[in-house]
Parts: sequence; structure tokens; C-alpha cells
Amino acid sequence: MARVSDGPELVVAGAGISGLALAAGLARAGSSYRVRLLDERPALGSTGGAITLWPAALAALDRIGTGADVRAAGHPVGAGTVRTNSGRTLRTLDHDRTTAALGEAPVAVRRGALVEILHARVAPGTVTFDAAVRGYERTDGGVRVLTSTAPIAARALVGADGYRSRVARALHPGLAERYAGYPAWRGLTRAAGLDAVQLWGAHQEFGVVPLGDDVAYWFATVREPAEGAADDELAHLAAAFRGWPDPVARVLAGTDPDAVSRNDVMDRQPLRRWRDGPVVVIGDAAHPMRPHLGQGGGQALVDAALLASLLADAGSPEEAFAAFEARRRRTTGRVVRASRAAARAVDAPAAVHRLSALVPDALLLRALAAIGGSRS
Ligand SMILES: Cc1cc2nc3c(=O)[nH]c(=O)nc-3n(C[C@H](O)[C@H](O)[C@H](O)COP(=O)(O)OP(=O)(O)OC[C@H]3O[C@@H](n4cnc5c(N)ncnc54)[C@H](O)[C@@H]3O)c2cc1C
Repeated sequence: MARVSDGPELVVAGAGISGLALAAGLARAGSSYRVRLLDERPALGSTGGAITLWPAALAALDRIGTGADVRAAGHPVGAGTVRTNSGRTLRTLDHDRTTAALGEAPVAVRRGALVEILHARVAPGTVTFDAAVRGYERTDGGVRVLTSTAPIAARALVGADGYRSRVARALHPGLAERYAGYPAWRGLTRAAGLDAVQLWGAHQEFGVVPLGDDVAYWFATVREPAEGAADDELAHLAAAFRGWPDPVARVLAGTDPDAVSRNDVMDRQPLRRWRDGPVVVIGDAAHPMRPHLGQGGGQALVDAALLASLLADAGSPEEAFAAFEARRRRTTGRVVRASRAAARAVDAPAAVHRLSALVPDALLLRALAAIGGSRS
């Protein structure tokens, strides 16, 4: 178990994937910071069923000593098909080829398992729940963190508080976000013999990712107005995807209605800078991205592992934050742009879907390896 150190205090806003991974990484590096995570939620958790982690993310987990546990809790997903909603196969990727191109097969893991593995690596009492960060003020000694309870005097603040980040908004007042035009639904299902598949129709998508033992994670997008909510989201989806090929109906039928999440997909303008002296943002707070390439959480893990090692080695948090921004801002900008391009391709008419099949597998895998592969 990590030791609680007597060093200067580092406050982290958010105990999600990136905040927990940063704390776990600092504990692993034997850093002298006293780390304190504040999360507005009442308890540890992460909605959305499961997450696919690419080799770059798995390598980051290895660096913080949790890669083996996450691989053991998850399921490799190297093979898969992309089909149209009329059943035509656009692309088939096999496990060996994907693994050779990426360096390792991506791993799908329940989000709850991932956050528990990360949380187990931080010292007891590190996370305070029901505590929201509202902003910060710089002081001579570092930063005064404004919270939903009392302010906290700290040496430094890391905003790991997701795409609605209060820390990013304090860095950039007036930061704008806009609705991407569709919500994403996610859930877990129990059904036999499911393989990884993405089904594309005009402005609609349905994806299935097996988790082993006849359980699978699924996601769906449909163009509709923001802030909608159906009385019965499963019935709403069954109607939206009526007539789509197997396994859509089976997947929806095997889903627990209480475990379906619906989130409006948002797009936020890129941040011009990620830091302000002893304050920095990481993960979705720094670079939210469209979900279609499954990269946001993985890039958040890469951020966290890198920042932990920089903080453990640098003379000051300011120095670590400057090196972090220099190493990650441009790289993640490329992933944000690639994710937006993937969103445009998915959210397109059928003719564009058919044209996408003309892109050779080798070219596609090279592009995917460049953003999420083990050497990216
Ligand atoms: C439909 C969909 C599918 C996705 N699929 C994948 C995938 O397969 N692979 C992948 O890598 N990524 C995927 N992502 C992206 C991934 O979920 C995010 O990139 C990832 O969760 C970002 O982690 P984070 O720690 O930066 O933020 P979050 O996970 O959002 O965590 C932020 C934390 O901060 C807390 N918080 C928020 N505001 C405050 C505040 N003011 N004060 C205190 N605490 C606060 C929240 O409660 C939360 O615990 C997907 C996203 C969506 C929407």
C-alpha cells in the first residue's frame, strides 16, 4: 500500500480515470507529495459500462504498476467487423494482424473494475467524496483551491475533472462547448456468442464489444436533440434500431434497463494553454474528444502516467507542468482531430460508409497505431 508522505500538498480535482491514475502513479514513484483527490460524486464510480484501452493506455498502466491487473480483469479485442445496417461487411480485422500492427490487442474492461484497480493503489483516505472544486486563486506559496466546502491551501492543483472541468473554465473563462448532434447510449448485456462488431447506418451507429463469459459492452448513437430522455431508453433504442441486423435486438433484449446510460456527446474548443503556474489540467479536462476511436480514457491514462513521473523527478510542480504540456498538447491535439474525423465518417450517409471500405486495412491500422499503438 502506498505511503502517506509529509511533503507539500497536491490537490487533484476529480477521482475519475485520470485523477486516480495520477495518484497511483505518484504512489508508485515514491513521490513526496501529499496527494488529496476531491470528487463531487458521493462514492467511487464510473458510468458507461466498459471501456476499450489501446496499447498506449496499457503501457501507461504498466508504468504505474496496474497493467497486469487490468489485463486480467479485461478481455482482448483484436478482431472485429464493421458492417452496414443492411448487413454488408465493410471491413474485417483479424486478431493477429491487429496485434502485429498495434503491438498488442486492445483490452475491454468494465469501468468499475478499472477505477477499483486504480483506487486500490492509493493510500486510504486520499479521496474525499462529495467535495466539488469550484475554482482556484494563485497565492505566494502555490494555490488556494476553492471547493464546495472550505478552501484548501496547496502547493499545486491538477484539474482531472472531466470535460465539464471547473479548473479548465477557471483557466479559460468563457470556454465554449457545443452539442455534437447525438447522445451516446451505453450498457452491458448478457447474450451468447457475441463478437466485436460496429454497425453503421445513416447517422446511427451500434457497437458491441465482448467482455468474456457471454457478457458484452455495447454503445449506440442516434441523431436527436440534446437533453432528451426517454421513459424507457431500451424501448426507445429498440424502435430507433428496428430492422437492424443481428445482434442488435438480442443485445438490447439482454440488457438490464437500470444499467443503461445516456450522455449528450459534446465538442469543446481546444485549450490554448493547459496550465497557469502551479495549476494544470489533464485527461478530458485538457483534451475532450469524440468517442468514436475509443481514445479519450487511454490518452487520460498516458497523461497521468507521464505527469506522475515528471512530478516525481522535477524540482517544482511548475517545471513538471511545463514539461507535461510541452510533451502532450500537440500529440493529443492529433488524437482529438482524428476522433473528429472518425465521427464525421460514422455520422455520414450510406455512400460514405461504402467508400470507407476502400481504405486498405494496412493503412487504417497504421493510422490507428500512430494514435493508440504501443509505440505512439
Ligand atoms: C460513449 C463514450 C464511449 C467512450 N469509450 C471510450 C473507450 O472505449 N476508450 C477510451 O479510452 N475512452 C472512451 N471514452 C472516453 C473516456 O470515457 C474519457 O476520455 C475518460 O473518462 C476521461 O477520464 P477523466 O479522468 O479525464 O475524466 P472523467 O472520467 O470524466 O472523470 C472526471 C471525474 O471528475 C469528477 N468531477 C467533475 N467535476 C468535478 C468538480 N468540479 N470537482 C470535483 N470532482 C469533479 C467526476 O465526478 C469524475 O469522477 C468514451 C466516452 C464516451 C462518452
